[in-house]
Amino acid sequence: MYGKFQNHLQDELKAIKEAGLYKNERNIASAQSAEITLQDGSKALNFCANNYLGLADNPRLIEAAKKTMDQRGYGMSSVRFICGTQDLHKQLEKAVSDYFHTEDTILYAACFDANGGVFEPLFTAEDAIISDSLNHASIIDGVRLCKAQRFRYANADMADLEEKLKEAQSCRFRIIVTDGVFSMDGNVAPMDKICDLAEKYDAMVMVDESHSAGVVGPTGHGVAEQFNCYGRIDIFTGTLGKAFGGAVGGFTTGRREIIEMLRQRSRPYLFSNSLPPMIVGAGIELFRMLGESDELHARLMDNVVYFREKMMAAGFDIKPTQSAICAVMLYDAPLSQKFAAKMAEEGIFVTGFYYPVVPKGQARIRVQLSAAHRREHLDKAIAAFIKVGKELGVIR
Ligand SMILES: *Cc1c(COP(=O)(O)O)cnc(C)c1O
Repeated sequence: MYGKFQNHLQDELKAIKEAGLYKNERNIASAQSAEITLQDGSKALNFCANNYLGLADNPRLIEAAKKTMDQRGYGMSSVRFICGTQDLHKQLEKAVSDYFHTEDTILYAACFDANGGVFEPLFTAEDAIISDSLNHASIIDGVRLCKAQRFRYANADMADLEEKLKEAQSCRFRIIVTDGVFSMDGNVAPMDKICDLAEKYDAMVMVDESHSAGVVGPTGHGVAEQFNCYGRIDIFTGTLGKAFGGAVGGFTTGRREIIEMLRQRSRPYLFSNSLPPMIVGAGIELFRMLGESDELHARLMDNVVYFREKMMAAGFDIKPTQSAICAVMLYDAPLSQKFAAKMAEEGIFVTGFYYPVVPKGQARIRVQLSAAHRREHLDKAIAAFIKVGKELGVIR
């Protein structure tokens, strides 16, 4: 049998390559950081990781992980409800709840699992899930696993959301679901308006804070802080794999009974292994650190403002945002790939995106800023952008 299947896969893979959509991985031979070393020994400045607070190689987190591993072992070899819960898991859940001002939290192996396991236990065919069209793949998959009726509204479009809420009025329960920050434009979901509409049309609200937690809001606590929506959002999901240390792990946090039901019925929680102690120990230390000072968040925002201002002054077309994602618009797919390749030659890693990842004619370079970037890193990246931008006729 495999011979035929092999031919089929080879054809498909060839088609992916010919469409220019084949993903090649870069092999990094150092820790994840603002400056990375590649396998061939060359160095590059990294502007394409989700390392927003620069914690991926933070000494305090590394120390906490090592210490926890020494004291509590390497792994749990169990799911949470059989014999995989340490006091540490409960402490981390409490720390997440405190951070988001919520009642309870449930940990997952990843936010992909948190989103995959949040809808099916809570909603049935009588209910409605009203989802932003640009929501993350894991939300889309989670919704697919649930029998609730599906409604999709155009990205952050409140008029369209209102239409869909009207259409869903006959359903038993309604929930609006949105990313906090959308990863391609870096735009922030208008949570205050979403919560207003939710109240007007008797719906609940869920937000995925993966790109917004640690980043958005006066002290980086996410969209609820940004829009002063505490108490108006029923469910938050998020990851420990981006701003929050960058290792692995996800969570759902929110109303007490919702979390209690997820512990009973959420399949990625019930049928998948517990987070290892070192990750949990480092996670507890992470929230302790964030509670002591918001210096990293302030540095990140300084970097965002500095970078955006210099890039706009140089003549680049930048999407407006309050997040740490900066979309440099080029509008042309081959140009975006050429631009990213030339930036790599200058030792600057950025990502070129084009259709189908972004809409047709909306090709761009995505730059992700970090608290780990120092002023000279930013200046070097901006200088490379200007050089390549002039070479390719993007700016004059
Ligand atoms: C990255 C991301 C996820 C997945 O998080 P993991 O913990 O890496 O699985 C989920 N949702 C959104 C919006 C994300 O950006």
